[in-house]
Amino acid sequence: MQRGGCLCGAITYEVTGALGPVTACHCTQCRKQTGHYAAAVPAPWGDVTLSGTPKWYNSTPGARRGFCGTCGSYLFWEEYDGLVYLMAGAFDAPTGLRMDGHIYYADKGDYYTAGEDLPCFAAGRSGPEVPS
Ligand SMILES: [Zn+2]
Ligand SMILES: [Zn+2]
Repeated sequence: MQRGGCLCGAITYEVTGALGPVTACHCTQCRKQTGHYAAAVPAPWGDVTLSGTPKWYNSTPGARRGFCGTCGSYLFWEEYDGLVYLMAGAFDAPTGLRMDGHIYYADKGDYYTAGEDLPCFAAGRSGPEVPS
C-alpha cells in the first residue's frame, strides 16, 4: 500500500499492488506544469482509491493532467487506457521506488542535467538515447 496526496491535503489516494520504476519526463508540458520535470509511475486505476476531486486539464488529445484545484499540486497523468501515472513526488515517504530513466530529455530545460547514471531518451523509451 502506497499513500500520497497533494500539498494542502484536499486530495489523497491509496494504491494497492506493486509499483514499477519511476520515469522522469522532461517534455515541455511537464516542465511547464511542474516548474521542473515530472517523475511518475503507472498504476491501474482499479488499484487506486481516490479521496477528493482533482481538476483535469486536457493538455493533448487523448491525455489529461490531474491536479489539486486548491494548492495546484500535479498528481496524475492519464491517457484513458485504464492506467494512471502517479507523480512520485506526491507519495508519502518511504516509497521504496527507484527512478530508472529519463524521457523527452531532448526537450529538457537548459539549466540542468540529469546528473545520474540512468538512460536519457531523446523522446520516448522506444527511441534513441542522448547523453545526459
Ligand atoms: Zn491540494
Ligand atoms: Zn512529459
